[in-house]
Formats: sequence, C-alpha cells, structure tokens
Amino acid sequence: MKDCVFCRIIARETAADVEYEDDAVLAFRDIYPKAPVHVLIVPKRHIASVMAMEAADAETLGRCLYAARKLGEAKGFAERGYRLRVNCGPEGGQVVYHVHLHFLAGGRTSGA
Ligand code: 5GP
Ligand code: ZN
Repeated sequence: MKDCVFCRIIARETAADVEYEDDAVLAFRDIYPKAPVHVLIVPKRHIASVMAMEAADAETLGRCLYAARKLGEAKGFAERGYRLRVNCGPEGGQVVYHVHLHFLAGGRTSGA
C-alpha cells in the first residue's frame, strides 16, 4: 500500500535489517529498539490492524505467530523465551497501521 512505511520496507524501497523472511511474512529490526532484541514481524499483505482484520486474514496472522517461533529458534530464544506484543488502535499504542508483532527478547521485556 502506498504511504505505508512497512509496505515500503517489504517492497525494499526503504532499508531495514531483515531477520526472517518467507512467502507471507517479513521480520526486521525495530529502528528504535525497546529491548536487547526487538524485531517487528509483519505480514507481506497489508492489513491495517487487528481492529480491521477479516476472518480471511486469520491464517496470515497465524503465519506471523509461526514466524515468531522460527525467529526465536534462529536467535537462540527457543528455551529462554520472549515477549510478543500487538498494539491495537490509538489507545493501544499503535502508531504504524500495518499490523505487526513486536518480538522482544534478551532480558527484561515486561516494560517494553
Ligand atoms: P506500534 O507503536 O505501531 O506498535 O509500533 C511501531 C514500531 O515501528 C515502533 O516500535 C517504531 O520504532 C517502529 N518503526 C517505525 N518506523 C520504522 C521504520 O521506518 N523502520 C523500522 N525498522 N522500524 C520502524
Ligand atoms: Zn502496509
């Protein structure tokens, strides 16, 4: 989608440090990390928010969750664990309206 910062990253029009990619999902480091490891996991197809998702988007968002598992294994957190966060809408702290999981790991992440 035009004017979406994450769609521009997916299209490789904006640079990002990619950590994981498959046919449905891209994951890249957050530009302002709030934990020692802070990666954003996004569907390649533009979905604005959980608040705007349709039933047909459920599989795509499930692929994002599965990508979190893969990312956790690849980065050495399969046993230690990590935190996944999804901000939804203005009062949920969502700033970028392309749905994403925050993958937070590497120490205390409860305040992140
Ligand atoms: P939200 O508050 O919408 O859940 O989170 C948006 C996140 O996207 C923030 O943590 C912010 O640092 C990150 N972010 C915003 N713009 C960019 C960008 O251009 N590149 C990257 N890598 N992260 C971004
Ligand atoms: Zn987008």
